[in-house]
Amino acid sequence: MDDPLPAMALVAYALVFGALALVEQPGINRSRRWPTNLALTLGFVAISAVQPIGVLLAAEWAEASGFGLLRALPLPQPVVWLIGWAVMSLSSYWLHVALHRVGFLWRIHRVHHTDSAVDVSTAHRFHPLEAVVVIGWLGATAALAGVPPGVVLVFFALEALANLCSHAAVRLPPGVERVVRRVLITPDLHRVHHAPTLPLTDRNFGTTLVWWDRLFGTLVLPSGPGPVGLDRTDPADAHRLGRLLILPFR
Ligand SMILES: [Zn+2]
Repeated sequence: MDDPLPAMALVAYALVFGALALVEQPGINRSRRWPTNLALTLGFVAISAVQPIGVLLAAEWAEASGFGLLRALPLPQPVVWLIGWAVMSLSSYWLHVALHRVGFLWRIHRVHHTDSAVDVSTAHRFHPLEAVVVIGWLGATAALAGVPPGVVLVFFALEALANLCSHAAVRLPPGVERVVRRVLITPDLHRVHHAPTLPLTDRNFGTTLVWWDRLFGTLVLPSGPGPVGLDRTDPADAHRLGRLLILPFR
């Protein structure tokens, strides 16, 4: 029997994408930006499958080999799941920091930040090489920590959902925003990360939880809508697929 779960997950993901695209504020230059971002989406969909599979293989290898720190500790299963998810989330935070602070990693990640606006399509705007970095980094994390394979799957599903929601050009009602941002990265918080200049670009690195930014002093609350996109990006580079793909090498 074919497992219906991947197809159901893909449909659910497409529905969330469509819903966010419908409720977003208009007037964000979609006609110019979306062809490029949606072209990168095709790569992203492939990457979205490759990334969890790559990291899952690392986690399954560790499980089969009895490898990993969490397996050496006498902990109840729910605690292992919770710590495993937190370890993946923390590692993902540090990966994002590294993508900004290490020269060659920034060249790859910069493609995501050259978008001249931020909306749900920006969530798919990544250079394909970033997937290789993610698999290496999070695969090593999952294997070393001994994160159960099922936890890896749940982690990637939540990251994908949070990635879509945090890029959407939506504003939560102020009361809801205040409550949600105590725990989660909201679109308002993530837009700060897409500011055109430092130091704001190096703030609000989290994807799902706001706590890592709080803990490591990288959280900044937005002071207003503010501009997005890198200020030194040649506009010709920002929305041409070919230019974006060679951007890390120039
Ligand atoms: Zn970034």
